[in-house]
Amino acid sequence: MRIAGEKNVLVGGDIPDDYSHDEMAPVTSEPEVVFLAGDTSEISALLRHCCWRNIPVTPRGAGTGLMGGAVPVCGGVLLDLGRMDEILEIDEKNMLARVQPGVTLLELSEAVEARGLFYAPDPGEKSGSIGGNVNTNAGGMRAVKYGVTRDHVRGMEVVLPDGEILHLGGRVAKNSTGYQLLQVIIGSEGTLAVVTEITVRLLPRPPALASLLVPFSDLDAAILTVPRFAEAGITPQAIEFFRRGVIEASERYLGKSFPDRSAPAYLLLRFDGASREELEAQIDAAGRVCLENGAIDALIADTAERQEALWSARGAFLEAIKHDEMDEADVVVPRAEIAEMVNYADEVGECVGLRIESFGHAGDGNMHINMLRDGLPWDQWRRKVDRAMELLYEKAEELSGMVSGEHGIGHAKRAYLERHTDPREIALMRGVKELFDPRGILNPQKIL
Ligand SMILES: Cc1cc2nc3c(=O)[nH]c(=O)nc-3n(C[C@H](O)[C@H](O)[C@H](O)COP(=O)(O)OP(=O)(O)OC[C@H]3O[C@@H](n4cnc5c(N)ncnc54)[C@H](O)[C@@H]3O)c2cc1C
Repeated sequence: MRIAGEKNVLVGGDIPDDYSHDEMAPVTSEPEVVFLAGDTSEISALLRHCCWRNIPVTPRGAGTGLMGGAVPVCGGVLLDLGRMDEILEIDEKNMLARVQPGVTLLELSEAVEARGLFYAPDPGEKSGSIGGNVNTNAGGMRAVKYGVTRDHVRGMEVVLPDGEILHLGGRVAKNSTGYQLLQVIIGSEGTLAVVTEITVRLLPRPPALASLLVPFSDLDAAILTVPRFAEAGITPQAIEFFRRGVIEASERYLGKSFPDRSAPAYLLLRFDGASREELEAQIDAAGRVCLENGAIDALIADTAERQEALWSARGAFLEAIKHDEMDEADVVVPRAEIAEMVNYADEVGECVGLRIESFGHAGDGNMHINMLRDGLPWDQWRRKVDRAMELLYEKAEELSGMVSGEHGIGHAKRAYLERHTDPREIALMRGVKELFDPRGILNPQKIL
């Protein structure tokens, strides 16, 4: 209370239930105290105190994570960074924005777009915080062309578990200055440091955008088309895949009809260009590639309204099926293996008796394999999910894939990380954690 003032510390019955879970993981646990941080010095004082007293501290952004990373599984203090929500600077000369961690993706995007600029990472959940995006190394739709969050972070202020404040990186565009601790902390899910300020790079806002919705008679044909774009020198911002089932779920959820649902499988592509002519040339070339590879049609959406109808529906897929209780494997495999992985997920669903809906980012091999509860008794559903997860992660490893493409490991996927990662790599990860946080107070029982 002395650090943050009485009104910014919640205890007992004053703690809202929201703080005991995130958006999906079947992980729930209540904090003993919630600390609503106002600035870096408060966080430093809090961590110094908790380190000395051996009290666990769990950082939390907007709580939209899907792996239980922000759930205080060991109790202790939940450190809510939501009040630190200022855009501190938009530096147009260096094309950078400096923000506090609680700024949401939507707020940052709107602020920079109003100045003709563009923050490229585009995870589906726009109410997630930039601090959370950085700590999960969030990906999203535009990763095909622009990469993921880590590719856009230039500098950070962080508070180490003993309360020391450290500045990493900065405003420079290149950096080969020793070990890149900035990159070690990105994606560390709040286990190494609390991120209190972030400098991200900005790009000029692409003047022209258009999308292509491409129906296919089966998913294999759709997925096998994806490598053909790169071969033809075409670089979309985004290449998403999905099947009719999730379209129907999103129509029910949004109460709006999707522009087409006549086919069993689809690719959805978005392009940007420096001019209308450049954009049209890309769209024409991509449409030709699709039709040559078995597409039923290639439907162009070039007005803002038509594109909004497509992408708002795509953005709602997860929410639409999450409506029902579900769990998810966020595997990533080499791009060419997606069709095999998705077909295998269907087989697993049949074999263990679960309804599985898969969709995701075809352009970078990252798919979300969603296992729905469909009214099954909870214990029975969890047993089936555990068996399905085992089989899916084994298959991903066989295809040279990885456990998580963008949602992270959190608390929910720790066992799979350990099982499907070289033990020497795990030992080095433990060593890194030990070096940053020898007393193990920061977000314990996450990742490892
Ligand atoms: C409908 C929906 C769609 C989604 N789509 C995508 C998508 O397309 N791509 C994608 O990558 N993810 C997606 N996500 C997942 C989620 O939005 C992201 O993981 C996001 O980055 C989480 O941000 P957050 O602020 O909610 O973080 P939280 O859930 O609060 O925390 C996530 C992790 O980061 C840590 N953390 C948060 N802030 C800090 C900080 N300042 N310092 C240190 N540690 C911190 C927490 O301890 C936790 O481990 C989606 C989620 C939903 C619900």
